[in-house]
Amino acid sequence: MTFEDYRGVWVFIEEKEGEIVPVSLELLGAGRTLADKRGVELSGVLIGHNVTELTSNLFEYGADKVYVYDQPIFKLYRTESFMKALLHCSEKYKPEIILYGATSTGKDLASAVATDLPTGLTADTTELDVEEDTGLLLASRPAFGGNIMATILCKKYRPQMATVRPKVMKALSPDKNRTGELIQENIELKEEEMRTKVLKIVRETKKKIKIDEADIVVAGGKGLGSAEGFKLIGQLADTLGGVVGASRDVVEAGWVEHHHQVGQTGVTVTPKIYFAIGISGAIQHIVGMKNSGMIIAINKDPNAAIFQSCHYGIVGDAFEILPILVEEIKKELGKEEVHHVREV
Ligand SMILES: Cc1cc2nc3c(=O)[nH]c(=O)nc-3n(C[C@H](O)[C@H](O)[C@H](O)COP(=O)(O)OP(=O)(O)OC[C@H]3O[C@@H](n4cnc5c(N)ncnc54)[C@H](O)[C@@H]3O)c2cc1C
Repeated sequence: MTFEDYRGVWVFIEEKEGEIVPVSLELLGAGRTLADKRGVELSGVLIGHNVTELTSNLFEYGADKVYVYDQPIFKLYRTESFMKALLHCSEKYKPEIILYGATSTGKDLASAVATDLPTGLTADTTELDVEEDTGLLLASRPAFGGNIMATILCKKYRPQMATVRPKVMKALSPDKNRTGELIQENIELKEEEMRTKVLKIVRETKKKIKIDEADIVVAGGKGLGSAEGFKLIGQLADTLGGVVGASRDVVEAGWVEHHHQVGQTGVTVTPKIYFAIGISGAIQHIVGMKNSGMIIAINKDPNAAIFQSCHYGIVGDAFEILPILVEEIKKELGKEEVHHVREV
């Protein structure tokens, strides 16, 4: 493998129901920094059906080139067809780095591509950098149960690949005057040769709260003692017009559902205000909320790790503080009624 043959930073552009998934734009932002540092081009790879019109958007967000596979066979995501397109493109143009969003599609595709190429893959990256001279991608992520940050290198293979969690990187502000080169690609794939067929799409009927889009997240931990005690979290969230977040231990105890979980194996959130109440501050939780605008912690243990990661800390018993906080905020907001029971 001659490393000099591999040039350029790529981002796999994920499209869902006619729209670019936000993490792809975030990765164009991160990819732009890497590409500029290396003095190479930043390209997107867009695979789908009737997707070509989405490319102008990608140039505005930093791409120099976009490779597009716009064919009916790519109407819905399937590992086999998308992997073949990406392999086709990668083998033809030889990028040095490929980034994917750590979404279910991105993770599935990246691992399949890594196995087939073959090359290494760093999963769930939270920090990215590149060595200017060697071109080595420095992909960092929490490791050993989250107790350390590990920087993972792929020294023997190209391209170097990483999946990156949504909401960790920042998209550039779109520049309407920015354009780039659109390269239409085509690969011959026959539907009858595909091993997977999508027979039916069953949409989830239960409405899920979008905790990663909320301005205010009130998150509770095991310190709330029980599902009953945890309802105090819902009361504060209701009073502030926020949503409920939780630590993993709370989810495992069955007090709330998994989509409320913040952290390494949950959702990454960046609200304007994040409350961490009765949460110890384990690194796996911190990585999911540390970029919040303002973090307010309530914990009865003055030595709790959460106090190292907050802007404001209140040492005390949540059961004493929360009712007062709710009443006082209610007074401030001029509300008359507090909802004492909340379904989460
Ligand atoms: C691979 C891996 C992935 C993980 N992913 C995640 C993840 O995505 N998200 C996540 O959250 N965790 C995750 N964890 C678990 C994580 O390590 C911690 O175990 C978890 O975050 C602890 O939850 P907690 O803070 O609610 O509970 P605890 O650690 O039990 O902390 C409870 C806190 O409440 C305080 N407290 C007790 N009573 C009161 C009171 N009356 N008033 C105020 N404070 C009180 C205590 O002082 C303590 O600090 C992961 C772990 C591993 C190994």
